[in-house]
Amino acid sequence: MSARLLTTIAQVREFTGVARRQGHVIGCVPTMGDLHAGHGALIERARTECGSVVVTVFVNPIQFDRQDDYERYTRRLEGDLEFCAARSVDAVFAPAVEEMYPEPMATFVDVPDLARHLCGEFRPGHFRGVATVVAKLFHIVQPDAAYFGEKDAQQLAIIQRMVRDLNMAVRIVPVPTVREPDGLAMSSRNRRLSPEERAAAPVLYRALRAAENAVVTGERDAAKVKSAALGVIAGEPAMRVEYLEVVDAMMQPVAEVSGTVRLVAAAWLGQTRLIDNLACEDQRRREHRPGR
Ligand code: AMP
Repeated sequence: MSARLLTTIAQVREFTGVARRQGHVIGCVPTMGDLHAGHGALIERARTECGSVVVTVFVNPIQFDRQDDYERYTRRLEGDLEFCAARSVDAVFAPAVEEMYPEPMATFVDVPDLARHLCGEFRPGHFRGVATVVAKLFHIVQPDAAYFGEKDAQQLAIIQRMVRDLNMAVRIVPVPTVREPDGLAMSSRNRRLSPEERAAAPVLYRALRAAENAVVTGERDAAKVKSAALGVIAGEPAMRVEYLEVVDAMMQPVAEVSGTVRLVAAAWLGQTRLIDNLACEDQRRREHRPGR
C-alpha cells in the first residue's frame, strides 16, 4: 500500500486527528528526504513502536548556513514515497517552503550551550534552524514519539534538551548509526562523493575506531586520544578535518576522558562534508560497573 502524501498542515492535523481517535500511538520521523537505509532504520523502529507512522520530508532552508548547499540538496520525493511505502509508512508530510514559512519567522528555538561547539561552531545558525523546524513539526504532527539518528549526535542532544526544557510531550528515541559495510556512516551527502572520494571516506570511521581503541585500552588524555585518530586521517591526504573532539554529554570538549564520552568529527572530501561519531566508555568505568 502507498504512503499517504500530505502537503498542508491542515491535512496533517486531519490525518493525525483520525489516527489519535482510533487510539493509535503516533510516531514521527523528521527527515530532509533523499532517504537511505539510515532513515530506514528510524522508520522501522517507529513502525515497531507506533500504530501510525508519519515521515516528514522537508529541506529546511533556515538550517542551511550556505545557500549553494541548500540549493543543491537532493530532492526526490517520488523515490522517497516509494521508500516509505515499502516500509509501510502511513503518511509522508512533504510541505512546500511557503507552507512551513508563510512569512519570515520572528520566533526561534535556540539551545546555545549545546550548539556552541562542533557543527554549531562551523555552521552558524544551523542548530537554531534545526531546533525551530523540529519544534514546528512537533506542534504540527503532535507525535507521541519521534525518532532521530545517533549519527547526528549533537542534533540529537539538542532536540532531547529542547524537549526537556520546553516540556514537549514527545518521547525522543535515539537510533544507532547505520553504516556501509566499510564503516562509512550512511548519509544523503555520500552520493555526492566521486569514486576516489568514496574510496577515501571510510578513513573517518577508522580514525574514530582508533580513538576508541585508545580509550578502551586506558588512555585518559583527550589530546592523545585525538592524535590517535588524526594519525589515521593523516594517511588520507584528500581528507581535511574540520573538527575532531572528545566531548561529554553536553557536547563540550573535555581534556580528560572520564565515564562515557563521544568521539565526534567532521571532515571534508572535496566539496562534501562528512560527520561521524562514536560513543565510548573509559575502562575504569567498565571495570567498576556492577554485574560485569
Ligand atoms: P537527514 O535527512 O539527513 O536530516 O536525517 C534525518 C534523520 O535521519 C536524522 O535524525 C538523522 O540523524 C537520521 N540519519 C541520517 N543518516 C543516518 C544513519 N546513517 N544512521 C542512522 N540515522 C541516520
